[in-house]
Amino acid sequence: MDLFNLDHMEYNIDRNPAVEPTLSEMSSKALEILKAASIKNDDKGFFLLIEGSRIDMAAHSNDPATHAHEILAYQDTIAVVKKFVDDNPGTVLISTSDHETGGLSVARQVSTAYPEYLWYPEILTKVQNSSIALALAIQKFLTKNPRNVAELKKFVKEIIVNNLGIEDFTEEDLNYLASNAAKTNDLDTYISQMVSQRAQLGWATHGHSAVDVNLYAYGAQSHLLKGNHENTDIGTFISDYLELDLEVVTEKLKNQRVIEEGFGLRKSIEDASKPQKRKRNHSKNNYEHF
Ligand SMILES: [Zn+2]
Repeated sequence: MDLFNLDHMEYNIDRNPAVEPTLSEMSSKALEILKAASIKNDDKGFFLLIEGSRIDMAAHSNDPATHAHEILAYQDTIAVVKKFVDDNPGTVLISTSDHETGGLSVARQVSTAYPEYLWYPEILTKVQNSSIALALAIQKFLTKNPRNVAELKKFVKEIIVNNLGIEDFTEEDLNYLASNAAKTNDLDTYISQMVSQRAQLGWATHGHSAVDVNLYAYGAQSHLLKGNHENTDIGTFISDYLELDLEVVTEKLKNQRVIEEGFGLRKSIEDASKPQKRKRNHSKNNYEHF
């Protein structure tokens, strides 16, 4: 296995395919490795957690185009895992979320008139980058050209037209983005709103919401997950299906201590009952991937 970034994966809309594989490509490789290891290990089976984690982050930004691209990348991953389940009887796929984010609504009141029942998906298809990537580009331009307001506004205009596909922007939009060029979070929010408003998509919050989330299951014993469930039911289903003895594992973990070194990127586990003989290394280059 490998890591392709020191932090989050790039948003799929911003991803350079030459540098970073897709979530589905990584998942496909992980399944291949785990299946081979399982066969070698008396066919004990395995558990794989795949997180489409940046769906949540795009929703925190209320960035609808990036959000849609992340969901599509997750859908591609589900297709890969579903095929794996088809090819490997006795396997089960479960897909769910720990919460909704943003309170996304496929409806938006954009004037005082009674609204038409529609939204405009084609607005999202014109967007070429995430709002935060564009916000960072504007900030970078400002840093390189600190006193040239006219050039900054020209750059902002090019981004709105070329990267967002928005032609009906206003002077107010240009002024806001140019005068807040140093504030990336504010730009991220403003750019996301420019797209959401035009697509007529509503957002209720920049945080998480309390709506029920979807639950999908496919493969062996998936019928047991039909209907409404508490989130803890999923864990119970998995441990029952894999015949795990969680009490034994919990006891084992209680006797171990997790040690974080450097910037939290290197972790090791050691037995708490053994005497502690460890040196802290605060060197900046103490990164270790695993
Ligand atoms: Zn979140």
